[in-house]
Amino acid sequence: MTSHITGGCACGAVRYEAANDIEFSFNCHCRKCQHSTGTGHSSAFALPVSTVRVQGEIREFEAGSDAGAATFSGFCPICGSPMTSRTERFPERIYFHAATLDDPTVFSPMFTVFENCAQPWDPPRKDLEPASH
Ligand SMILES: [Zn+2]
Ligand SMILES: [Zn+2]
Repeated sequence: MTSHITGGCACGAVRYEAANDIEFSFNCHCRKCQHSTGTGHSSAFALPVSTVRVQGEIREFEAGSDAGAATFSGFCPICGSPMTSRTERFPERIYFHAATLDDPTVFSPMFTVFENCAQPWDPPRKDLEPASH
C-alpha cells in the first residue's frame, strides 16, 4: 500500500494529493451516481477532507439530499470529469471517484451501496457485501 495518493481529471486542470488514509471504498448504484458517471454505478473512496490538497477548481452542484443533508457532486469545469462527492451529513469526509487516481489499482471496493437502484445491465458485484448508507 502506498503512503501517498495522487490523482486528477481527464484534462489535467484539477490535481489532488493526499495521504493514503482511505477510510473505505465502495461501489454506489444510486441514481445520483448514475447521473454523474453516465453509467450504472460509481466507484469511490472516502478520505478525511483535512488531508486532501487540491490544485485547480473542483466545481460543485447540489445533488439532492442524503437523510436530509445536502449532498454535492464535484467535477472539473474544463473537461467535465466527475471528481468528488460529499454530504453535509459527514462534513469531515470527501469521496473521490476511483478513476481519478493516477494509479487506479490502489482502489479496491469493500462493499456496495444502493444496490436496490442498480440497473439490470450493471448488476452489483456478487462478491461484495451490501451495506446500508
Ligand atoms: Zn479537467
Ligand atoms: Zn451514489
